[in-house]
Amino acid sequence: MKNTIVVGAGPAGILAAITAKTNNNNVLILEKNEKIGKKLYITGKGRCNITNYSPIEEFFPMINSNPKFMYSSLYNYTNMDVLKLLEDYGLKYKVERGNRVFPESDKSSDVIKTFNKILSDLNIKVILNEDIRFIEKQDNTFKVYGRANKYESDFLVIATGGISYPATGSTGDGYKFAKTFGHSIKELKPSLVPMEIKSNYLKELQGISLKNIELTVKLNNRVICKEFGELLFTHFGLSGPIVLKASNSISNIGENSIISIDLKPKLSPDTLDKRIQRDFTKYSNKNLENALGDLLIKKLIPVILNESGINPYKKVNQITKEERLRLVNTIKNLEFNLIGLRPIKEAIITKGGVSVKEINPKTMESKIIDNLYFAGEVIDVDAMTGGYNLQIAYSTGYAAGESIKEKSNEL
Ligand SMILES: Cc1cc2nc3c(=O)[nH]c(=O)nc-3n(C[C@H](O)[C@H](O)[C@H](O)COP(=O)(O)OP(=O)(O)OC[C@H]3O[C@@H](n4cnc5c(N)ncnc54)[C@H](O)[C@@H]3O)c2cc1C
Repeated sequence: MKNTIVVGAGPAGILAAITAKTNNNNVLILEKNEKIGKKLYITGKGRCNITNYSPIEEFFPMINSNPKFMYSSLYNYTNMDVLKLLEDYGLKYKVERGNRVFPESDKSSDVIKTFNKILSDLNIKVILNEDIRFIEKQDNTFKVYGRANKYESDFLVIATGGISYPATGSTGDGYKFAKTFGHSIKELKPSLVPMEIKSNYLKELQGISLKNIELTVKLNNRVICKEFGELLFTHFGLSGPIVLKASNSISNIGENSIISIDLKPKLSPDTLDKRIQRDFTKYSNKNLENALGDLLIKKLIPVILNESGINPYKKVNQITKEERLRLVNTIKNLEFNLIGLRPIKEAIITKGGVSVKEINPKTMESKIIDNLYFAGEVIDVDAMTGGYNLQIAYSTGYAAGESIKEKSNEL
């Protein structure tokens, strides 16, 4: 009988454990939290964006770091495989915009319950509240030290996640363990992270969510990226899907770093001007501040008028053409100074991690230490939002588990 220890009960560790378990191989999961899948619980705004429904070849352009490393494991354990596993254990799912898959109930807790059911069905022991502090290998045996207890195994999977959202348990311990085994760690950086902006209007704008807008990032007058979709103003600046996505293209934020928001990207300046003229005819006797409600959400109107330098109390029928064109320009180019990205602990995903050069991409086994495996976010692979990062966790976890299963059968 062989033994496997998996450190970390996130999606990567769970998949590794489920896959490695056989009659010849006992599997034990050690998790520092009081429950499994604490980060999984908050994904997809608490609904759990389980995976993405797109064909697997469409995953690779969505992977920002080391997509080639993921070829083998993603094709070997696909989005359809994890959905089938969950479905077989009773979880119903639905596919939404952007092919994002969610549980039908919209509750991430149902996904976690399903994983718990699978683990208990397979008799996989999970020890909770066990914070692993140190790991070593002596005479082909891994010795795993918790705060009070010591465990031993023939195979070891490090599935401790990244270093973002540390309250979910991912505090970067896996990097430390990997280093003690001689692995190198690619520099850790935030990926998919909100942005800090300088603006006099932050208080007024906070909480506003805008859909179907275009965001442009300009560094030193050069357009770095454009994203279309949904954005949220927060107390420090900007968040929301397109901001997180755009954050990935940004490095070297300097004095001349600008975020420009086009509030009406589907209208050309000329069409927008005509549209405003129609509203002006309709509301000709009103103050300007009361004439833009058909076009803009209420909280934005004072900001737009202030930025355009137009008196909000001026009667619409007295607005000059020049003022109107300034209004058009502000609506299409609402600019803010970008002062920075939020810290790594607020990033959706950690960029960097255990170098893929030292991991076998087919099995996730260390090329340095036999029978040592890595799975999930601890590896230097990260992707865009949309379920891709979770799929990376399942597929790498599966690859590790499958290799351990094969080896434990051979031994
Ligand atoms: C707010 C938010 C939203 C997200 N939304 C999405 C989304 O919609 N779609 C998507 O694909 N991805 C999303 N992600 C990313 C996704 O959650 C991660 O990529 C994924 O959870 C990584 O899985 P993992 O198993 O590698 O690590 P984790 O899920 O972080 O699990 C690692 C586990 O290891 C445990 N651990 C760590 N150190 C130790 C130790 N020393 N001893 C014992 N246990 C330890 C931790 O407690 C944790 O339970 C989101 C992330 C965040 C923060």
